[in-house]
Amino acid sequence: MKQIYVNQIGYFTDSPKKAVLNFEGREFNLFDDSGNCVYTGKVSHFGTDDISGEDVSVADFSDFKRPGIYRVSSEGVDSVSFSIGTDVFEKLTRDVFKCFYYLRCGDALSKEFAGEYWHEPCHMSKAAVLGEDTSPVDVSGGWHDAGDYGRYSTAGAVAVAHILYGVRFFDNLKDVKYDIPKVTCPGGVLPDILAEVKVELDFLLKMQREDGSVWHKVTTFQHAPFVMPEDDRNELFLYPVSSMATADIAAVFALAYTVYKDYDRKYADKLMEAALMAYKWLKDNPEPVLFRNPEGSNTGVYGESEDVSNRFWAAAALYEATGDRKYHEDAVALSKDLEGIDRKGCERDDEPDPLIGFGWGDVGGLGSLSLILTGDDDDLEKYVKGSIAKEADRLVAESERNGFGVCMNPHDFIWGSNMELLKHLMILAVADLKVAEKPEYRRIIVAGLDYLLGCNSMDVSYVTGNGEKAFMNPHLRPTAVDGIEDPWPGLVSGGPNKGLQDPRAREIPMGTAPMKCYFDHVDCYSLNEITIYWNSPLLFVLGWLRKKF
Ligand SMILES: [Zn+2]
Repeated sequence: MKQIYVNQIGYFTDSPKKAVLNFEGREFNLFDDSGNCVYTGKVSHFGTDDISGEDVSVADFSDFKRPGIYRVSSEGVDSVSFSIGTDVFEKLTRDVFKCFYYLRCGDALSKEFAGEYWHEPCHMSKAAVLGEDTSPVDVSGGWHDAGDYGRYSTAGAVAVAHILYGVRFFDNLKDVKYDIPKVTCPGGVLPDILAEVKVELDFLLKMQREDGSVWHKVTTFQHAPFVMPEDDRNELFLYPVSSMATADIAAVFALAYTVYKDYDRKYADKLMEAALMAYKWLKDNPEPVLFRNPEGSNTGVYGESEDVSNRFWAAAALYEATGDRKYHEDAVALSKDLEGIDRKGCERDDEPDPLIGFGWGDVGGLGSLSLILTGDDDDLEKYVKGSIAKEADRLVAESERNGFGVCMNPHDFIWGSNMELLKHLMILAVADLKVAEKPEYRRIIVAGLDYLLGCNSMDVSYVTGNGEKAFMNPHLRPTAVDGIEDPWPGLVSGGPNKGLQDPRAREIPMGTAPMKCYFDHVDCYSLNEITIYWNSPLLFVLGWLRKKF
């Protein structure tokens, strides 16, 4: 079927603008919402690429800058409608933020703010400490992690980090106003995003033991069936501590200290005290304390084979927050350990430098963001910036190998491919801001968002409620069973995954092009789940966008 793919939300007046056609047109027209032709251009043929498997052409209308609502048309085929304007992503930004509110666990949702998505309090009972004969512990609050109702320390820390580094790099995220309960602080009222992040920080504070170590997760022993959260009443368990969780919490509390100290000194000091306790535990326990699920439990593992990137992040974040050189010495030593880790078995032979990883399993890049924030310009910071520049230039080359201009290759279409994309866009945003301002970085970040928001061979926007053909059926318990047709707006789907790792996904024929390995079905946990750390990197990228346009 002939189709024209566009960013279904729209384009900034001054941003690059293009549509992708899966046929070889000659001319294209832009029509406004009254049906008037406002622009005519020539289509350029790209050819077939290995991520979409389609013979595509590109319609570029970057020089058209008049605000309004439009569609692209060629050879009798029309795209969906989209906007051109100066504030096209305002709703998207508010929606992506608001999802963290809907994901709150405990008694936090109110009818006033959650509306029809309100539900009864959930997971309020104390959690038993697995394998220990001690009193159950109150760890209520925080955010549900994903399609399930688990709460995981490393995943939570990384989602908070994406947002708070976003705040540090792009102050404008603090100006986003959306509809959640206000939180007062000694200086007045917290910016909305800091009020939301405080919910998760307060939960993570409860996950720390008196000796400074951090429980890896709190979940029921088995995933709940598809029920509303308040109907998931099985016993909650705190699973054993891990050095990854302890290091991630030390790092994220140190980072949070640097943000919250301007609003609530007492709260910031509490976070710093907790960060220092966690770091002391790490120093007293230099061997990795890894995590495995006990026999019979099937909730998320978030397993890592080593904890060096986590310890590096903790040292770098504490150095940036305190200025104490001893943490810098630790960061330098750990960066060398990290470079020395044998990465045999990685699918890619061009596996990027571990010092620029932004995911829960590879957090070295988060430490690098702290080092960049110090502005020391020492050898380690220079090295990190060089590595970011190298990766950004690799991504530029990738973007030129497909007609969509998206910086992805077939290896990126794994479980959570949209996060692979968003991590790439974070690299490009940091490169643009702190290393070298190149027009191609700007162009590729925009093309990446275009892909996420509809300019892809599925013709789907991977953010709920945003775009005429936004996905509708996330693998997410509450939205699947609440009886409301529309899911919460602002959820980012995991996206196409050539691994097809769930039974429903395997209805897609083997050998399908990577970009088309997607099915908007609630059963598809390997293609269509959502998580807090797939929404959070999008906020980082939106911070960059708000600064640049
Ligand atoms: Zn809950």
